[in-house]
Amino acid sequence: MKMDVGGLFLEELAVEIERLHEPKYRAGQIFRWMHQRNAVSFQEMSDLPKGLRDKLEEEFRISTSVAIIKKSGIPGEDTTKYLLEAGQGTIIESVSMAYGYGRTACVSTQAGCAMGCVFCASGEMFERSMTAGEMCGQAYAMQRDTGEKFSRVVLMGSGEPLANYDESLRFVRLVSDPGGANVGRRRITLSTCGLPREIEKLSKEGLALTLAVSLHASNDETRARLMPKAASICSVKELAKVCREYANVTKRRVTYEHTMIKGVNDSLANAKELAGLLAGDLCHVNLIPLNGIQALERSPAKTVEAFAGVLSGKGIPVTVRRSLGAGIEAACGQLKAGHKTLD
Ligand code: SAH
Repeated sequence: MKMDVGGLFLEELAVEIERLHEPKYRAGQIFRWMHQRNAVSFQEMSDLPKGLRDKLEEEFRISTSVAIIKKSGIPGEDTTKYLLEAGQGTIIESVSMAYGYGRTACVSTQAGCAMGCVFCASGEMFERSMTAGEMCGQAYAMQRDTGEKFSRVVLMGSGEPLANYDESLRFVRLVSDPGGANVGRRRITLSTCGLPREIEKLSKEGLALTLAVSLHASNDETRARLMPKAASICSVKELAKVCREYANVTKRRVTYEHTMIKGVNDSLANAKELAGLLAGDLCHVNLIPLNGIQALERSPAKTVEAFAGVLSGKGIPVTVRRSLGAGIEAACGQLKAGHKTLD
């Protein structure tokens, strides 16, 4: 297979261009075409001589060229789910969401997921990890389609980003490159099921991104039931400790995601337990209304309110994610189910 240039940093691209005995500044032009103008082929790069475009086409491929297969809007919301095809025929879903402050791209870091969390529809089957170029390509495909630039990126689609550590971080660096898409690092959120060694490593990368941790339970028993693989890697106490250290090192507040599941993790005792676990930490809890799956049901609004009340009463900052039915959460949490509705 031809070498991919879509996932290369500018300096790496420059090395490849010089290898073709072309001037180094061409690398800057090509990088901008891919990462700012979202070109999907070398022939589109109209300020390059035709001979060079042909040569590049012969030598390289562009992994950021991700094709839209289908899209579906969510009625009443400015949210669009996309079914996309990356290289090797891999099908993934990405979501474009518009908020008051701009557009957010939700990208998948893996096709499928190996973590098997019981409430998440993405974990049915792991197919493969996505490359950094393909992650950029998801955002760029949606950008081309909407004609609007993204101001935020969330690594919250299918897959576990920290189980695809190198490519996910390469993506964060590429998409935040001022010579490329230039999305501010503080506007990038990486959501993980909580892999402690990788969180430690991430704290030393010097990236100002937002870390979101899918906790979903205040004790090990409940977490083992909901997230069997993640819970087998470390206890909730160890996870909270690693996140505390992450916040200390990076000075960035960690977001804990807690999906509210009726009768499973939503009691006042659970709220107290959670408050005890996170007491004094630089953190924030985001309560997410569950998108019902199999026997699991969303907690009633009143239960969510009472749960939030306990947390804020104990000084833990808490927000309730907007409940948009088949909206944003469905898009992020149930990619596979969404895939079916798109078919
Ligand atoms: N592997 C990463 C990112 C993918 S999941 C992680 O675990 O964080 C992205 C977010 O969607 C997570 O917070 C996850 O808990 C949530 N989610 C998954 N299934 C959901 C569902 N059925 N309803 C609501 N949120 C869900």
